Amino acid sequence: MIPKSNISLRFVVVGGGIGGLSVAIGLILAGHEVIVLEKAQQLSEVGAGIQIPPNSTRILEILGCKAHILEKALVPKAYHFFNYRGDNLISIELDPYCARKYGCKSLHVHRGDYHKCLVQRARELGITIFVNSGIVEIDLVHNIAITHDGQKYHGDVIIGADGLNSSVRSSIFGKEILATNSGDQAYRSLISIPEMAKHPELDFIHKLPCVNFFWGPQGHVVTYPLKGGNSCNVVVMGPDNLPPDSRVAAADKHEVLQFLKSWDSRLQLLLSLATSTFKWRLQYIEELDFWSHPTQNVTLLGDACHATLPYLAQGAAQAIEDAAALAYLFGKIKHKSEIHFLLEMYEYIRKPRTTRIVNSSKDCQQIYHLQDGEKQKLRDLECALDPPQEGCPARWADPEFQEYLFGYNIFEECEKQWLMATTLKEKL
Ligand SMILES: Cc1cc2nc3c(=O)[nH]c(=O)nc-3n(C[C@H](O)[C@H](O)[C@H](O)COP(=O)(O)OP(=O)(O)OC[C@H]3O[C@@H](n4cnc5c(N)ncnc54)[C@H](O)[C@@H]3O)c2cc1C
Repeated sequence: MIPKSNISLRFVVVGGGIGGLSVAIGLILAGHEVIVLEKAQQLSEVGAGIQIPPNSTRILEILGCKAHILEKALVPKAYHFFNYRGDNLISIELDPYCARKYGCKSLHVHRGDYHKCLVQRARELGITIFVNSGIVEIDLVHNIAITHDGQKYHGDVIIGADGLNSSVRSSIFGKEILATNSGDQAYRSLISIPEMAKHPELDFIHKLPCVNFFWGPQGHVVTYPLKGGNSCNVVVMGPDNLPPDSRVAAADKHEVLQFLKSWDSRLQLLLSLATSTFKWRLQYIEELDFWSHPTQNVTLLGDACHATLPYLAQGAAQAIEDAAALAYLFGKIKHKSEIHFLLEMYEYIRKPRTTRIVNSSKDCQQIYHLQDGEKQKLRDLECALDPPQEGCPARWADPEFQEYLFGYNIFEECEKQWLMATTLKEKL
């Protein structure tokens, strides 16, 4: 599915997260040479669980990563949406529905396992990953990435996959572009399932591999078990109370319990079992004017150009779609002179979709966190419509939006745009 180019370019990928590793894998498959420069001392992913929607599993299969991930992942049966009192608002089947309708499953997995699978695949393909290689500057005249200790790496193309506070983004724009605070933070915990099993009232959370959402005033809770049956991923979103200068901090679980004090007592019981909780400020990037440098061959990918709130569980999925788009388009390249045109096409294909997803994720903040009242009653009534209608507040139940998220095939999209562009070129 990824075309193989008949010329080989040298790509420098800045950042060895999910997006950076995916693009490195895709570009090697497209016939190029790739190195990855990672700031951290060792390769790892922090955080707990992550959902992999069908639009992402479709790509992971083509990248040759799906088998590794399936060994570690669980296949959720359904999304269940509850209000904060524990009443079910709506449920949406995921398995076997997604495989039947979209040809791909929805999965969830521990982030560490996900990242390890990508590292394993990258190593199988002979990709060199340099750790302790934080990039501080891009020399835009010579297309060189420069590390904190003065090492220089030239690339025909440099890709900034360096996350929310991207240095490559600052180099492209010639100034720092700060992430926007959403006003929310996320408490993330892994809770022992053997401990949960001592409380039968928690069975509904972990007995079947499902993703549960609880919507309440000023926040929401997401739970899903992880493979191995040992731990349950629990994320509690609520108002941000982190000090301005810190993005992540250890959290006191009593703070979480206080926030949930008027919620379903089963959630309080669940959180009382947490042994450690971290809280993260939730930020996003306002739509950038452009992703690639106007004249040089430097571009951005993933959170570096469209970090989103996690309320549609699509952040990493969008990074992987970006990766697939770059791999596909650069699999078509015939001459170095086409590089900038391909970077423009990449941005043309990807920017509208990622902007819609960032904005829709922001809208979810308003939908999920309603106080009791007229708007909340209307929201709950809309969830109760059978079958779900366009605009359904549980966004995955909206048939048009679900198709938009899950049915998207980045390879078909790139092929369509490529054919249109080449036909146009021939006519000119
Ligand atoms: C609470 C929460 C839940 C989420 N749940 C989901 C979900 O269920 N599904 C989903 O699809 N997404 C989810 N996301 C979003 C997802 O985690 C991110 O969108 C995704 O990890 C972005 O990948 P990335 O590779 O673009 O950036 P990152 O994961 O941030 O990776 C960037 C990498 O670059 C490195 N780096 C940074 N600066 C430099 C530098 N100067 N030089 C070299 N290296 C550098 C970093 O160390 C890091 O390894 C969630 C996010 C949060 C906060």
